[in-house]
Amino acid sequence: MENKKNLLDFTLEKLEQEMALYNQKPFRARQIFTWIYKKRVFDFDKMSDIALSFREVLKENYSIVLPTVEYKKISVDNTVKALVKFSDGQLVETVLMRYNYGDSVCVSSQVGCLMGCKFCASGLLKKIRNLQSGEMVGQFLVIDEILKKEVEKDENAHLTHCVVMGTGEPFDNYDNVLDFVKILNCPYGIDMGARHISISTCGLVEGIKRFKQEKLQVNLAISLHAPNDELRDKLMPINHKYSLKELISAIKEYNDSENGRRVTYEYIMLEENSTLDCAKQLVELIKPTFGYVNLIPYNEVCENSFKRASNNRIFAFRDYLNEMGIKATIRKEFGSDIDAACGQLRARYKK
Ligand code: SF4
Repeated sequence: MENKKNLLDFTLEKLEQEMALYNQKPFRARQIFTWIYKKRVFDFDKMSDIALSFREVLKENYSIVLPTVEYKKISVDNTVKALVKFSDGQLVETVLMRYNYGDSVCVSSQVGCLMGCKFCASGLLKKIRNLQSGEMVGQFLVIDEILKKEVEKDENAHLTHCVVMGTGEPFDNYDNVLDFVKILNCPYGIDMGARHISISTCGLVEGIKRFKQEKLQVNLAISLHAPNDELRDKLMPINHKYSLKELISAIKEYNDSENGRRVTYEYIMLEENSTLDCAKQLVELIKPTFGYVNLIPYNEVCENSFKRASNNRIFAFRDYLNEMGIKATIRKEFGSDIDAACGQLRARYKK
């Protein structure tokens, strides 16, 4: 395999340091970033304002490697699910979701996942490896291209939001995910506002503690899914390591920290966690923190026996939280005609 470094792995700061090894000024890194992210030029020969001799140096030592789209499905509501393939043959899912406020991409951070949440089709595949930051950037660029060329058929169309919520636990791949976010947020890079970027964790307390030190206004989402330890232990093995008490205390510290912001609690609506009693417990649990709740109607999958809560229950749950002063919304459902549950497309394709 080629031993060249992928330029998509570099934040601007890291690329400036790298270019300094060739006695190049920081300006060189900004030029390269502009070609890649503003002009979407991935061929060194076309980077016309870089001296020919230095383009040769770049060609010898670096590459710009995008994943390929192995398979994709576009649903009737224009949700796009793509299976992207990296140079070692590994596949992950990346999804384009369309909202009235913009177009969002859901990026995977690992091939497989260690966390083993019981309701999750992605969790059935044990973690194979972390994704590099450039592999997350690659998912973004590939979906942005599909949006321009196939969905909107407009070169000016572009992704406005990004969630790191696909396969994998982002804080189990902390450094690469943070570099990815910095590339998204960089004015010479993709230039996406930090508040349009969200990272979703199943509750790795060390990760939350680390994240609160970052001077980034990126949103933090917590996959909560249960209002008490007994139920959460059954649904999410991570709860054996970090109890709800520890998790909530880390969230409170994050809320109160200099860089802290409101969190979003993700809560999948299953039969077993959607009773009114669960809603009451949830209010008590999260009341000390600053956050709102995103209720996600469950997509049933054949890989497990979890049942989706009825619409009546979902509405009653939301209404109760709102009445108690906790803002709760029900997430729009995407592409139910295209194996929309996380991990499902990959599982089916592999079969
Ligand atoms: S829900 Fe997220 S953290 Fe849990 S197993 Fe699935 S991918 Fe991993």
